[in-house]
Amino acid sequence: MPQLRILGAGREVGRSCIRLDVNNHHFLLDCGIDPAATGPKALPDFSGTSLENLDAIFVSHAHLDHTGAIPELVRRGFKGKIFMTLPTLALVKLLWQDELSIMEREWPKEDRLWSSKEMHQVLNKLAVPTTYHELFKLDSISVNFHNAGHILGSTMTELMYKDFRMVYSGDLGTSSNHLRYWRTEDLAYPDVLICEGTYGGKNRKSREETSKEFIESVRATIESGGKILIPTFSVGKAQEILKILKDSWNKMPNTEIYLEGMAIETLRIYEQFLIYMDDKVRRAYLFNNINPFRWGALRTFRSISERKRMYQGDCPCIILAPSGMLRGGWSIWHMIRIATGEKNLIALCGHMEEGTTGHQLMTGARNFTLKDMISKESKEIEVRCKVAHFDISAHAMHNELCNYISKIKPERLVLVHGDEASLRALAESVRQHAGEIIIPSIGEAINLEHKPLPAPKEVHVEIPISQSTSIIVPKNFSMRVKHHGKESFMRAEEIRSLINNR
Ligand SMILES: [Zn+2]
Ligand SMILES: [Zn+2]
Repeated sequence: MPQLRILGAGREVGRSCIRLDVNNHHFLLDCGIDPAATGPKALPDFSGTSLENLDAIFVSHAHLDHTGAIPELVRRGFKGKIFMTLPTLALVKLLWQDELSIMEREWPKEDRLWSSKEMHQVLNKLAVPTTYHELFKLDSISVNFHNAGHILGSTMTELMYKDFRMVYSGDLGTSSNHLRYWRTEDLAYPDVLICEGTYGGKNRKSREETSKEFIESVRATIESGGKILIPTFSVGKAQEILKILKDSWNKMPNTEIYLEGMAIETLRIYEQFLIYMDDKVRRAYLFNNINPFRWGALRTFRSISERKRMYQGDCPCIILAPSGMLRGGWSIWHMIRIATGEKNLIALCGHMEEGTTGHQLMTGARNFTLKDMISKESKEIEVRCKVAHFDISAHAMHNELCNYISKIKPERLVLVHGDEASLRALAESVRQHAGEIIIPSIGEAINLEHKPLPAPKEVHVEIPISQSTSIIVPKNFSMRVKHHGKESFMRAEEIRSLINNR
């Protein structure tokens, strides 16, 4: 009997990791860290899991809350294969390098997890790059990756064993970003759907409205001579914000925009995979050579002194710097300098995890002790600049999650990757679309005893053609009918009443 065990992301966002035991094989769906924690506390709960006996890991996408613990698994004896798409492999390399330098720079020595040795072991030997819709087999188990539209290379994982079929959503994208949107056509009626619920119960304003407010706020700050810090995830969010800025750049006063740290290399990877973007972006690129993320005003710093010089002058500018929740990195370095100027703006974008500086800033804290990553000094900072929050997210919002689940109609729905209130709100809205809904806690095991596929829940209409024969068609069926010399489309029920009333 297949079984799931929740090692992470049960009633929380972070350290996504689910073990699937099927036919004496043991797999992990993702293996991430909690971005708000350090040391072993950041890891999934591996107790009760024999790491040497794991056969493979299926990686949904590169974000660290889905991949950050993989090198640690290798350090602890994991020797299996790790399946991910090619863009995910390219992105994961950058994200791990960055995480490694954050661990070395900012974590206490005893808290540090894996080293570059394990990271390279994964990248050189264990990782298997795959692509969408390229069914691969592991013994009697077949796996298929589908586009999830969340960040470049993100997947939904479909796994089949005999007549058991399971879908894992990973993180789901939103319709208004620059990537191809997910489709559900090939995924309907699985035995189990494990679905994320980050935005359960929460809908956002339309992307157009949020982008307008964001651009307005940026424009007003530049006009008043202020500098703007946009802390951003390097992967996904940075490109989304660049695209929003580029699309509205003609409304902006003349200024420069600086891209920092890993967001620079990430942009190069995005540019290599423009074919993964939505139709409009692909067409513009293929036929008119338009790069959606890059334009003349985009700059990078070449040195620390160049950065310092920028702060000596009064010129307004925009800085996009990781990390997105102000956990460390260049965004903290710039925050130390930007926060004290009243004309300046810190524009927070998207979800801020509790415990991060970004969350504290968003919820009103104004006094911080921040570590300058270059000088290594701790500085007391009073935030006097403007702080704004814009809900620009790469995640599907509540309505999109409901739409996704209502189309897939699983026998069992397992909701993860959200706080408990969000997952309960989502469960409430999709109750009629799933046989059973489970909101598991960390450590919980779920037996997936196979149940036969439910009969289609459609109502049928019987249309008599003679006294002894009828045809039975779905209620919504319609066909072209000639009645009194006039042809029109009629629905099944109309045809039946027509025949019955002859
Ligand atoms: Zn993600
Ligand atoms: Zn995630």
